[in-house]
Amino acid sequence: MSPSAKRTPGKPAKTVGSKTVGSKTVGSKTVGSKAVASKTAAKADRAKKTTKRPAKKAGDATEKKTPAAPRMSADAIRTAFERWRELNPHPTTELIYSTPFELLVAVVLSAQATDVGVNKATRRLFPVANTPAAIAALGVEGLKPYIATIGLFNAKAANVVALCERLIAEHGGEVPRDRAALEALPGVGRKTANVVLNTAFGEPTMAVDTHIFRVANRTGLAPGKDVRAVEEALLKRVPAEFLQDAHHWLILHGRYTCKARKPECGRCPIRDLCRFKDKTPGDGP
Ligand code: SF4
Repeated sequence: MSPSAKRTPGKPAKTVGSKTVGSKTVGSKTVGSKAVASKTAAKADRAKKTTKRPAKKAGDATEKKTPAAPRMSADAIRTAFERWRELNPHPTTELIYSTPFELLVAVVLSAQATDVGVNKATRRLFPVANTPAAIAALGVEGLKPYIATIGLFNAKAANVVALCERLIAEHGGEVPRDRAALEALPGVGRKTANVVLNTAFGEPTMAVDTHIFRVANRTGLAPGKDVRAVEEALLKRVPAEFLQDAHHWLILHGRYTCKARKPECGRCPIRDLCRFKDKTPGDGP
C-alpha cells in the first residue's frame, strides 16, 4: 500500500470534496463495491505510472537542464583544442594506476564514485594485490575491506573478482586490447572499455561521461541526445591530432571549469568560442 493510500483510524476511508466514498455513499447515491474497487484500481495504476521512472544514466539530468547549443564551427573546435593543449600538453586520468590491469580495476571501481575516493581504496589494495591472480586469491570477501569506502562496493567486489577469474581463464591474465573482449568482462561497459583502450593502450576512443556529455552539448562542440550520439559526434568533429587526448581535456574542462550547476565562464579559456547562451559573467579570452 502506498503512503497516500493509508487510512487514518477513526476517519472515513476517503473524502472527495464533500462526498464520502469509503462508506460507499456518494451524496445520496450508493456506490457498488465493484465501482469503488475499479476506482481504487485505476488510481493505483495511475500512481504506478507516475512513480515508475527510468533508471538514471550519465547525462540524463544535463540533457534536460542544458539544451544543446548551436554547433561550434570546425575552426572554433580546432582553436579550442589548441588552447587546451597549450594549457595542459599531457593530460591524463586522475585515477592512479601503473599497469593496464590496475587501470581497469580502478575504472570499474569508479562507477558512481569520485576518482579521489577510488584512489584512496586502490592505494590500500594495489600494494597487496595488483594482478588478476592476487585479487582472485583474495576472493570477494577478502576484497571488500579494501574497497568498502566506495559506493556499491558489494557488487563491485563481486564484479572485480569475476573479472579477474575471466582474465586468467580467457586472456592469460592480461587485459585484452580489444573492445568486444573488454565489454564481455563482468562490470565492464562501453565507457570503461573506451577509457582502458584510450588511456592504457593509446587508442583514439572517446569515453563519454557526464562531464563530456554536458560540455559537448552546452558548448555546441558535439551536440547529441545521448552519450552514444555525443561519442560519435566527437569522433567525427575533433581533429585527428587531438583525438588521443581529447577525452581528458574535455573531462577536466567539465570537472573544473564548465561545471554542471555554475560554469565558470569568467575564467574559461574557450569562452569566445563557446555557443552557450547563458554564460556566467566575467572577462574570459
Ligand atoms: S564559456 Fe562557460 S559554458 Fe562555455 S565552455 Fe566555458 S565555462 Fe562552459
